[in-house]
Parts: sequence; C-alpha cells; structure tokens
Amino acid sequence: MIENLNNLERTHSCGALRKASVGECVTLMGWCARRRDFGPLTFIDLRDRDGITQVVVNQEKAGAAHAKAKEVRGEYVLAVTGDVVLRDESARNPRIATGDVEVQATEILILNDARTLPFQLDASDDALAAEDLRLKYRYLDLRRPQLQSNLRLRHRMLLEINRYMDEQGFTQIETPNLIKSTPEGARDYIVPSRVQPGKFFALPQSPQIFKQICMIAGLDKYYQIARCFRDEDLRADRQPEFSQLDVEMSFATSDQIYQLVEGLFVRIFRLIGVELKTPFPRFSFAEVMRRYGSDKPDLRIRGMELQNLSEALADTAFAPYSSALTTGGEIKGLVVSGGASMSRKTLDELQEFAKRYGAGALAWIKLGDELSSSLLKALGNDKVVDLAGIAGAQKGDAVLIIAGQRDIVSASLGALRNEVAKREKLIPDGVFAPLWVTEFPMFEYHEDDGRYYSMHHPFTSPLDEDVAVLERAVNGRPELFGELRAKAYDAVINGVEVAGGSIRIHRRDVQALVFKALGMSEESARARFGFFLDALAYGTPPHGGIASGIERTLMVLVPTDNIRDVMAFPKTASAQDLMIDAPGEIDSKQLEELHLEIVDE
Ligand code: ASP
Repeated sequence: MIENLNNLERTHSCGALRKASVGECVTLMGWCARRRDFGPLTFIDLRDRDGITQVVVNQEKAGAAHAKAKEVRGEYVLAVTGDVVLRDESARNPRIATGDVEVQATEILILNDARTLPFQLDASDDALAAEDLRLKYRYLDLRRPQLQSNLRLRHRMLLEINRYMDEQGFTQIETPNLIKSTPEGARDYIVPSRVQPGKFFALPQSPQIFKQICMIAGLDKYYQIARCFRDEDLRADRQPEFSQLDVEMSFATSDQIYQLVEGLFVRIFRLIGVELKTPFPRFSFAEVMRRYGSDKPDLRIRGMELQNLSEALADTAFAPYSSALTTGGEIKGLVVSGGASMSRKTLDELQEFAKRYGAGALAWIKLGDELSSSLLKALGNDKVVDLAGIAGAQKGDAVLIIAGQRDIVSASLGALRNEVAKREKLIPDGVFAPLWVTEFPMFEYHEDDGRYYSMHHPFTSPLDEDVAVLERAVNGRPELFGELRAKAYDAVINGVEVAGGSIRIHRRDVQALVFKALGMSEESARARFGFFLDALAYGTPPHGGIASGIERTLMVLVPTDNIRDVMAFPKTASAQDLMIDAPGEIDSKQLEELHLEIVDE
C-alpha cells in the first residue's frame, strides 16, 4: 500500500548520522538498497545521494512498522522515523560513514513501490550489468553511488570554474547553438530550416568564431561552459555532444594563457585534495614527439623515452631496416625496465598492439641471464648487444624496436610506452603529471586526399618568424607547409589532453593566406567566412584563447577511462541515446514542413 508523505519532512540525509546524533529522533527518506529479515528483527539499508543508513525494525517495539517492513522490496521509496542508537561494537561497519549507528524505526511510510530492477545496483565494478542495459535504464544506473559522486564532483568543478573565471575578470557570454558550420575537423550536426527551404543550420563544433568575434567586439575576456557537437567516430573519450570551458582573451600572450589555465587547474585539483605544482613544464611538439612518440605523453611513467637507433644501423644490410632508412624513415626503440622477464606471449600481444598503429614487425632484445633477441639472426650478436647499449638497457631489461616511417614509428612506440607501462604496473596511482605542449605544426598532410589540413584550426596564428615562410609556401613552395609552426598549445595531464588552444590570427591578410594554404579559393573563403574576414577588417585586437574539455578533465580527476561515467545522459559508441531511443524517426508532416524527403538507398 502506497502512503502519502503529507507534511512529513526529513531531518537528515542518509549519509549524515554519526555517534554524536545518538539519542536523537530523526526522519530519513530514501530508497531501500537491501532488506534482511531475522525473525523479529528486520534490517533495511536506506540509501539516498549522500549515503546509506542502517534501519532496524523491531517487532516488539514497533509492531506496525515491522509488519510494513516485511512488504518492502528493493528500491521501494521509504520515510523512516526513529531513534538513533549506537550499534554494538561487533556490528559496526567502518566501510560506511554512518556505520557506528543505526536508526531504530518507530514508524515507516512506504512512499512508493518499485518493479524488480533489470540489473543490480550494488554489483562490484567488475560485475556491473552490460552497459547498454544500464544506459537504457539510465535513471537507475545513476542511482549508483559512484555515478552520483561523479556528478557532484562535476557540479563542484563547474562552480569552481565559474568562480575562478569571474575572479580573473572574465565575462560569461553565451553564444548560439544554431549557427553556420565552424571547422574543428569533425563533421557537423545539421539542423534543417523550416522557414528557409533548402537551408540548414549547423550545431557548433565549438564557439570558435563567436568567441573571436567577441574580441573584435571589445568584450576583452570571454568565457563560457559551452556545449559542443561533433559528428565523428566515437572513441572511449569522445561523445557527440560534450562540454568545454571555452576562453578567449584580448591582447593575450601565450604565457598569460598558460598562467590562467595553470591557476584554474590548481583550483580544480584542490577539489580532490591534490596540490598541483606550477608552472607546468613546457615541451615543444617536436621534443615530445622525439622523446615520447606522442603529443600527449604520460609523464607519470618515468623514463621509457624513445631512443634513436637509426645511426647505429645506418649501414645495415638487414632489408627492412635499410629500406626504412633509405626512404626517409627511422628506427627507434624503448627500454622496458625489468622487461627481460616478458613472456613470448606478451611480446606477441605487444606485436599485435603495435600493428594497430601501422607498425610492421616489433623487434625485441631481452637482457636476461642470456641474451635473446628476435634480431640475432639478422644482425648478429655484437650488433644486438651494441643496440641494447645505445638504447640504455641494463641487465634484466628489454628493448622494443620499431622501424618505418617517422609518424608510424612515433605513434606505435608512443602507444606501446603507455601499454607496457600499464601491463607492467609502472604507472603510480594518485600522481598527476601536467605539462604544456607548444609550437605545434600549423598544418598536417593527409595522404588520402593529398592535401594539408590545419592541425589545430584555421584561425591559429603561425609563429611570427614563420609568417614569411607561409607566404612563400602559398606562393608556389608547398613543401614548406610541413615546416610551419603555430602558436598553438595543449595542456596534458597523465596522458590526457585536458585543454588546447592558440594565439589567433588577427590580421586579415594572414587569415586570407591560411585559407589559401588550405586550398580555399577566394570565393569559397568568402562564401564560408566572408562575415569573419569582414569583421577582421574593423580593428581586431591581437587575441588568443583555449578550451578545456569538462569530461576529459573529470575523467582524470575521478579517475575513469569511460567518458560516460562523468556525464548524466551520454550516448553509446554508435551515437544513440538508448533511454529515449534517439535518434528516432519523424513523421511525414514534419518531414514535409522541413522540405525533406527520405530516399531509400
Ligand atoms: N576551439 C578550439 C577547440 O574546441 C579550442 C580553441 O582553440 O580555443 O578545440
């Protein structure tokens, strides 16, 4: 029987009671997490977002409440009134904050019943029900304490961001979601216009152009917690819509942006009791790629830097290596400390892993009691010993070696560095290692369509000394595009890119050059960005900014590898919302109004 709440009010949350409350009469409200019957005694674990309190219902002392407690099932909603009592020493539960006490119920109201749940809420992390099922019943999954605590951390982080940005003199400005495409390298989500037949809005991939327009408008210091929409292939750390702290500042130098962001991250990390050291170390893109094979190296992993073995193998007759070197590639290795004990199976698995990043063979040297190596036959004992020495390996270590084109060698060894460190448990818990990566290349070449793309986005300024090179590159020297460096920077913590931005182009002529570099004719640049080129012509201050992913940052704080753990209503890897069943169909009337027709393929 379901009862009314009437005017009953709760006095405490289910996580609040401690020894000091013993003797008080309290009213708690929440969900039945568990019920256990011991004849005349029934125990109920009552749960709300704050915690769990044990309720005991005694048949002798509270007959009516005891009878009612027997009806209670999992996830029934209850109001319990009773006295706080100290638990027997032997019955105390140190794992919950309220574990010293329990509530002796005098009265119970059943405020609502609940169907049998499709999955268990209190399963341990490794026994959780399939994620698709939990996403379908997201409102139940969200009752799990871990997700509740993640969302509260998110709230506190957003509050802290707002406070900090206000203190730093920034103004929160909202920009529209129905806009024209802004290029950030992904596909746009498109919204058809009803009133303008055949025309479409795009949802913003980021507020990039608007925040720059804010600078032209003299708003000086802008920020926003912006929702961004990107239609791209999803990975573990991506969602079709996500939030970012978006920042732009007039007359900004890179140093000012670094200081602003470092100050912000110090404040954010205090939320989890961690004091970050500033300034964060800075590395150029070229340096991190050379040393770690990644533009987001995990500096919690000590050492394990990539070692260049190309020179030592310059005159090798071993065909895979000589051909890598003569075609402009390289040979690099990394030392796994204590890796001589890695099994053949592990090495085979690492080989498969490296292949995913385009690597051919993964060669290895193990300095165990005896030397062993996949290269002994090809290179001979002396050369193998020589290579191990150059790589810096000691007895007991292993060296993993990859040859090929530079980007493949970097990508595969960079990924192996993380993978091996994870497998060999070389990543310490509770350590946070931030850094800045600076001077990214302006452009990257895409083999598939044989042209250059902006590495960051087309509004990123080249280094001052590279502007003349840009001009030459555009005017007939395309081979120079690959050499241009940008005033772009990323903040990385524990191998996760938590923020990225740049000093922007504020000169109309330089912006036009970059559009040209990207293969845009003057007409197509005008058609897409005419309004922006015009705006640049009306006294644009030098400016720069950055954006920091809210979810990515939370993933580092929690920590978790699953982005869906830090947002309330995420989508699946195939960009669906399983709870509301979206995307869904629309009826023919709506299609007609939007001037759309579905064509079967
Ligand atoms: N708009 C960029 C992004 O979303 C960040 C920036 O350049 O400020 O990645």
